[in-house]
Amino acid sequence: MPLDLTHKVAGLNDRYRHHGATAVLERALGDTEIGKIALVSSFGAESVVLLHLVSVIDRKTPVLFIDTEMLFAETLVYQQELAERLRLEDVWIIRPTREAVFRDDNEGLLHLHDPDACCTLRKTVPLQQALSGFDAWITGRKRYQGGKREALQFFEAEDGTGRIKINPLAHWGTEDVKDYIAENRLPRHPLVSKGYPSIGCAPCTTRVNDGEDPRAGRWRGSDKTECGIHFVDGKIVRGPVTTDAA
Ligand code: SF4
Repeated sequence: MPLDLTHKVAGLNDRYRHHGATAVLERALGDTEIGKIALVSSFGAESVVLLHLVSVIDRKTPVLFIDTEMLFAETLVYQQELAERLRLEDVWIIRPTREAVFRDDNEGLLHLHDPDACCTLRKTVPLQQALSGFDAWITGRKRYQGGKREALQFFEAEDGTGRIKINPLAHWGTEDVKDYIAENRLPRHPLVSKGYPSIGCAPCTTRVNDGEDPRAGRWRGSDKTECGIHFVDGKIVRGPVTTDAA
């Protein structure tokens, strides 16, 4: 990782150390040292918090939504309704190319025998292409989500890309999310009330039982825990590493 990026990120973490989520986001979006920033959102179970914050601070901020073409119909409807309600002005719908899907997953069954390859095809490659014009991206990851997210900081250097990741909600817990949503009367993803506290693609997401980890329904029955939209040294990262997301 280039030293200047490491120094830059260390300086940003130092500068914003005592700030809250809103201040971090507000100042980061206006910080010329960081450069061009996009919010990457799954329009999932907790996404409305960051989407709302961005809509209040600067609704012209590019919002990148990855449509893997395997999402729940409810997610697609929620995405459209929420973008309209928050009057987001620059929503990008990111999809894999026709050629790539035809070549690698013509029958739409790749997720059954090689979910990593499916995530690469449908999420990682399209997202990395969309992010190529940006200097930084905002994620909704939080420390409470466990694994190496427990050490999450507001700013991270993304290995192999030269970009910065911004995690304004790093210190938020489930109650903070619930309170924010209630206080601002924001609509939740309709599947949350049906037992889905974490929502990804339809074939790879199940309901979660009481007492289970909120992410237990993601790739249930496999050792896969992350979608792999993050890179270290230019390679896709598996597992809940510090550079993971959404
Ligand atoms: Fe494919 Fe499942 Fe990954 Fe979605 S979550 S891209 S369906 S493997």
